[in-house]
Amino acid sequence: MRTPLIAMLSGVLASLLFAGTASAGIVERSGPAPTGRTAQTGNPIYKTGKLELKECKEQRVLPNDLDSSRVYLEFLMDCLNESWGYQFAKAKLPFSKPRFETISRAGRPTACGRFPKGAQALYCPLDKKITFLLNPGILSASTEIFLLQVMAHEYGHHVQQLSGIMGIVYNRKYRSEKAFLADIRKVELQAECLSGAFIGSVWQSLGRPQSDFTYVLGAARSTASHGRAVNIAYWLKRGFDQEGPGACDTFSAPASKVS
Ligand SMILES: [Zn+2]
Repeated sequence: MRTPLIAMLSGVLASLLFAGTASAGIVERSGPAPTGRTAQTGNPIYKTGKLELKECKEQRVLPNDLDSSRVYLEFLMDCLNESWGYQFAKAKLPFSKPRFETISRAGRPTACGRFPKGAQALYCPLDKKITFLLNPGILSASTEIFLLQVMAHEYGHHVQQLSGIMGIVYNRKYRSEKAFLADIRKVELQAECLSGAFIGSVWQSLGRPQSDFTYVLGAARSTASHGRAVNIAYWLKRGFDQEGPGACDTFSAPASKVS
């Protein structure tokens, strides 16, 4: 999720985990997605090479226009589904599209609790749904590159969920909240990297100036709850440069890269 993810996860999911209730069975699993620690460090999705979809056509986003932002996101979702769906086939992992909804104000109920104030979007693993906030303030400043970056990140969480990377975080018994939050940070930095991989793979087709990627890096750096700014930028750029999930194993990375 974008922005106050830690608040959301530690508030909603951590309370479940640390209260010792319902920590098992939170995440629905199907098919042969890997489980256990190797799901994070030896996931088959890491060995699938570059994302192969090279063309994604962007729709025009107009300011203060809900429909154009929504249409933009739906077209982008098609690109993400096609690109990642193929990657899952290469990994021989089951794939399904995420559900998707836009909402006009924070506080609306989701399967993971109420949509938090200050968040831009969230992915709920319980119903595999991306909820995207498009309120008047956001729409007044909405741009293609902004929507692209947020959506690619949330889709990264869907990739983590389907590949078994996210499930272990929710099902594992942590010794401390600190250990749990350290893993959440690795999840977030990995989502940044996965978003970078997608953006990098279709970048040529978008016909954007390099300064737009600088914008993406800058916007990502500002989401400080996801880790140190320098590390957020590191993982995003690493994914962008390598154009595939093999760049994104934050779980095997040295501690200094995931702080
Ligand atoms: Zn996130």
